[in-house]
Amino acid sequence: MKKPYSSRCVSFLTENPNLSGLYILMLVDKRELRYKGTQVAYYVVCKRKLWLFSKGISYEHTSEWVALGKFLDEQSFKRQREDDFYEEPVRIDFITTEEGIVVHEIKHSTAIESAHFLQVKYYLYYLRSKGLKVSHGVLHYPKAKKIQKIYLTEEDISFIEKTLTEIDKVLKLPKPLPVEEKPYCKECAYFEFCYG
Ligand code: SF4
Repeated sequence: MKKPYSSRCVSFLTENPNLSGLYILMLVDKRELRYKGTQVAYYVVCKRKLWLFSKGISYEHTSEWVALGKFLDEQSFKRQREDDFYEEPVRIDFITTEEGIVVHEIKHSTAIESAHFLQVKYYLYYLRSKGLKVSHGVLHYPKAKKIQKIYLTEEDISFIEKTLTEIDKVLKLPKPLPVEEKPYCKECAYFEFCYG
């Protein structure tokens, strides 16, 4: 059963009546996103990881790095996130508005920034493809005290469309791609599976 819109969401819509239709459309349509933003990011990070994650193969997050990330993720921007708009696999961390929707994503490390950029651009792409007016995205790195603004270009759109096609191909494979040594493998939740 779908979670009803939260009181925070309802009060936001009440305070911004001109955005009500837009937000309701967005909240509904986000449920139809074919791929999670995480999957799009994993395409850049590691195609083997993309496959494992997408097939529901998960491992206990034992590395300190992953634990730190989880902690930061839970603590940072707690106020904005304490009352989520919806309960769905696809989650934009939070949204504000300027001259259109501003998508915010919180990350604990800048190590795989290119994947984070693509994830946020994917959200912008998706919302825009639904006819919504998007402004830009903001990546927050609370640990590094860094903020990155992200804009969606025509080149990005064609890259995202190609990426989605490539994700389809990876997920049709009967087994994951072989281990490909990456500098961040030791911090990956699948490290023991891949190297054990
Ligand atoms: S440990 Fe390395 S090869 Fe294995 S899934 Fe993670 S990033 Fe990919």
